[in-house]
Amino acid sequence: MDMMKRVPITEQDAKVRATNFDEVCLGYTEEEAVEEAGRCLNCKNPMCVSGCPVSINIPAFIEQVKNRNFEKAYEIISESSALPAVCGRVCPQESQCEGKCVRGVKGEAVAIGKLERFVADWASAHGVKPQPAKEKKGKKVAVIGSGPAGLTCAGDLARIGYDVTIFEALHEAGGVLVYGIPEFRLPKEKVVAKEVENVKSLGVTIEKNVIIGKSITIDELMEEEGFEAVFIGSGAGLPRFMGIPGENANGVFSANEYLTRNNLMKAFKHYETPIHAGQKVVVVGGGNVAMDAARTALRLGADVHIVYRRSEAELPARVEEVHHAKEEGVVFNLLTNPTEILVNEEGWVKGIRVIKMELGEPDASGRRRPVEIPGSEYEIEADTVIMSLGTSPNPLITSTTEGLEANKKKCIVADEANGQTSKAGVFAGGDAVTGAATVILAMGAGKAAAKGIHAYLSEK
Ligand SMILES: Cc1cc2nc3c(=O)[nH]c(=O)nc-3n(C[C@H](O)[C@H](O)[C@H](O)COP(=O)(O)OP(=O)(O)OC[C@H]3O[C@@H](n4cnc5c(N)ncnc54)[C@H](O)[C@@H]3O)c2cc1C
Repeated sequence: MDMMKRVPITEQDAKVRATNFDEVCLGYTEEEAVEEAGRCLNCKNPMCVSGCPVSINIPAFIEQVKNRNFEKAYEIISESSALPAVCGRVCPQESQCEGKCVRGVKGEAVAIGKLERFVADWASAHGVKPQPAKEKKGKKVAVIGSGPAGLTCAGDLARIGYDVTIFEALHEAGGVLVYGIPEFRLPKEKVVAKEVENVKSLGVTIEKNVIIGKSITIDELMEEEGFEAVFIGSGAGLPRFMGIPGENANGVFSANEYLTRNNLMKAFKHYETPIHAGQKVVVVGGGNVAMDAARTALRLGADVHIVYRRSEAELPARVEEVHHAKEEGVVFNLLTNPTEILVNEEGWVKGIRVIKMELGEPDASGRRRPVEIPGSEYEIEADTVIMSLGTSPNPLITSTTEGLEANKKKCIVADEANGQTSKAGVFAGGDAVTGAATVILAMGAGKAAAKGIHAYLSEK
């Protein structure tokens, strides 16, 4: 075995998978996982752990995989993470744990994410579950939102012995994990539903179809329903648009709406939903969400173009997603920006006008600012345009809670160390605080807030 290279992983063939919604990556077998675990150098000062926002003891769990003690490996991961099967699939490992792996200096980093996924899938297949708390505290905590932040905070508090109820606006628990990230990257029943069940098995109650701010307010939860602390993990689900002509036409979607209709309303199983499965689809944007929308449209049978105003080096999506999208046949129009959506007489999209860009001086984000090249406009034919330009938190909760502060971007103001907001007993974390970020950062914030809530309730 060449120790510089990681054990290859089996994936569905690009041509076949472009026509189905089954998972792209098929995961390691036991033999492959043990072999890959053998590449870990078990460093004395493991940089990979410092690269993990929830500080999983990575060398320790990998050592157990090497010894074929998969149950112990799961126990070690579960001490730090409530969602290992999810994180093993969607975390940007290349810039976190694997980005710090010493093996990566001269060869390929250990496939930490794929090993985490293997361990979690093994535990799920063998019915191994995390252990609930032995003693109860007799104190009620409310968690708003069942995304990675809410699930993690709820799981950690339940483990300590708190009586936790999650309130979720939608009819399904999981947040973006169920309504945003598509089935072919993150299977809903096999992976997300099982990890949600694991959190419930710690004693957490999940109340679905409850919109905090409409069905009931945070103040009512605390003053009338006996909740002594509240964690807000309501995400950032409000889409942004460009404000260009034609954006209100039929056939223009936000990526969130398009993906929700597909994932949660099961358009991919050809259920009746008002989704417009176009033949020529343009996706505007270059993040993970844009890649997911493009690859979903492709699987629904369309020719798909991505339009992104910077160059390939600045694409914010994970490298693996860009690679997969290209393999499957998505066409990338880089250094290109939309100026108008073209609309036919019936009010439907018929195309998109774009202009070529070049990179100028770095902007506030440190990335080189794209500048229009005069006279370089051209048109791309399209019957559907999906806008994937980022999202911000919905102001419903801040506008209905007395004394809860938000910043100019509508993000809730909270202390990074413990999630404390401007209102006593109310904590927050995840996308609702940072704006759209990642699963593992939301989990890290949920963990920090669980500690903060425990400290607050211990002193009360
Ligand atoms: C399409 C897509 C693909 C992505 N791909 C990746 C990826 O590959 N890797 C990665 O790390 N990250 C990815 N992300 C980002 C990641 O999913 C988010 O950063 C993460 O889910 C944020 O977690 P959260 O718990 O803060 O919020 P969310 O996951 O958004 O969960 C918030 C929950 O709160 C509920 N809620 C909102 N308001 C209320 C209310 N008033 N009352 C009750 N409930 C409410 C919502 O319905 C939702 O279920 C992706 C995001 C999207 C949209």
